Amino acid sequence: MQIETTTTALDVLKTVYGYDAFRGPQAGIVDHVIAGNNAFVLMPTGGGKSLCYQIPAIVRPGMGLVVSPLLALMADQVAALRQAGVRAAALNSDLPADERRALWRDIHAGRLDLLYVAPETLLRNEVLEQLGRARLSLIAIDEAHCLSQWGHDFRPSYRQLDTLVRQFPDTPRMALTATADAPTRAEIQSHLDIAEADAFIAGFDRPNIRYAIEEKDNPRAQLKGFLKRHEGESGIVYCLSKRKTEETAAFLRVEGYDALAYHAGMDKAAREENQLRFQHGEAVVMVATIAFGMGIDKPDVRFVAHVDLPSSIEAYYQETGRAGRDGLPSDTLMLYGAEDIALRTRFTEESDAPEQRKRVERQKLDALLGLAETAGCRRQVLLSYFGDHCEPCGNCDTCAEPPELFDGTIAAQKALSCIYRTGERFGQAYTIDVLIGATNERILQFGHDQISTFGIGTEYDKRAWRAILRQLIALRLVAVDLAGHGGLSIAPLGRTFLREKPTLMLRVPSPPRARREKAGRT
Ligand code: ADP
Ligand code: ZN
Repeated sequence: MQIETTTTALDVLKTVYGYDAFRGPQAGIVDHVIAGNNAFVLMPTGGGKSLCYQIPAIVRPGMGLVVSPLLALMADQVAALRQAGVRAAALNSDLPADERRALWRDIHAGRLDLLYVAPETLLRNEVLEQLGRARLSLIAIDEAHCLSQWGHDFRPSYRQLDTLVRQFPDTPRMALTATADAPTRAEIQSHLDIAEADAFIAGFDRPNIRYAIEEKDNPRAQLKGFLKRHEGESGIVYCLSKRKTEETAAFLRVEGYDALAYHAGMDKAAREENQLRFQHGEAVVMVATIAFGMGIDKPDVRFVAHVDLPSSIEAYYQETGRAGRDGLPSDTLMLYGAEDIALRTRFTEESDAPEQRKRVERQKLDALLGLAETAGCRRQVLLSYFGDHCEPCGNCDTCAEPPELFDGTIAAQKALSCIYRTGERFGQAYTIDVLIGATNERILQFGHDQISTFGIGTEYDKRAWRAILRQLIALRLVAVDLAGHGGLSIAPLGRTFLREKPTLMLRVPSPPRARREKAGRT
């Protein structure tokens, strides 16, 4: 479109898109880029990232160059923009020669507002050479997480986009993505040389979703208690394995729920049928692996439960985010236990992934456990993971009922010395048996009934000790043997703790039965 020099971003928003106001951080981003600055934009899917580069490209003189990984996506965007009167085009490798020549003629004559291109096409010498003679208003790199070597969507050609930084150093650059944890984000910003001051992260809060996380005690009873609050509503129960989805769905059917299973091992027809029934049903409980999710378009999913630990905070956010698209109050519950942590740890350690990848996986697990074990507002922890923030929300379990803390200094000292005295090689169950003075064959065999820490922890039961040890692991005072046997040892922070003996506040390992009764107000 031919625009007046006085046209503002808001005019474009109204006339081209027909919207009255910018949403969330859009206005700030658009102004920032129109002024000629770079921007890193991290916003959830559906947050409205496209406008953030399209409007500056329209307002600024020259043509906006948009790098996008998917041809189909580009075609949709171009069609919609043209419909609205914006001069947009896509440069594909399969464009006939004459059309391609015409496109370059338009570009060099300044008759294009936006050019979409896939990275593989863009990086060809003749394309870069032609672009060198065009006037660019900005360069936007969509789905920028594809350049992260440690992300799941790594595309080698994305990695070479730093060529653009060198070739067009004075053109504003934008990197946009919906998925980036702190390391990925740092990688994107450093690779494309986008400063911290140019980062915009917002829109992650889903205020209508209630968050709750409980230790696994009796998972079926916990799930039943949760579902009881949602009679007559539809929702999703995520499980880790195919078998568990089948078993859990069968169990829930016996309990009277219209529960369906969904996993990648089912044949396509059965999967599609269950998805349709969920989509159109009134009170359907979909018991699924993470295979279920893509393309769910049900606005009134009222609850999401995780009966196993999700793979990361991003996954947790994305999966819980399938609840409450209609903006109405929605409820979530995640259950986690020591077995989940051990299993996840084993997955990571036994995989063939390079060490750096494993380190990222460990960090992700730690972050997730930090969310699970926090004494503060869950939403704050969740949003801070994405670099976003909020006040204590009043709509999560820890806000509603702040977890009780106790002075765990002595308990931690006892646990650490017991781990030390038994040689830093036994697992959690064994360590706890020694702490509470249980005499089993192994303990007698190793003579651990004779050591000073035998039976020094009788003030807590096994369950309480498990919760205490898990917190010590999450706080990194205790390390778990990563070779897979689960042996506990004292981590560097644990040694510091033993030396300096600072006060250590821990969450009271509350009996979940009591918590369930309180939560079960129906
Ligand atoms: P993302 O790329 O972040 O996933 P999109 O740019 O596709 O999100 O936008 C998601 C939807 O929100 C689109 O339908 C878009 O038209 C709409 N949208 C974006 N910004 C606004 C706004 N300021 N007002 C109303 N709707 C908007
Ligand atoms: Zn909260």
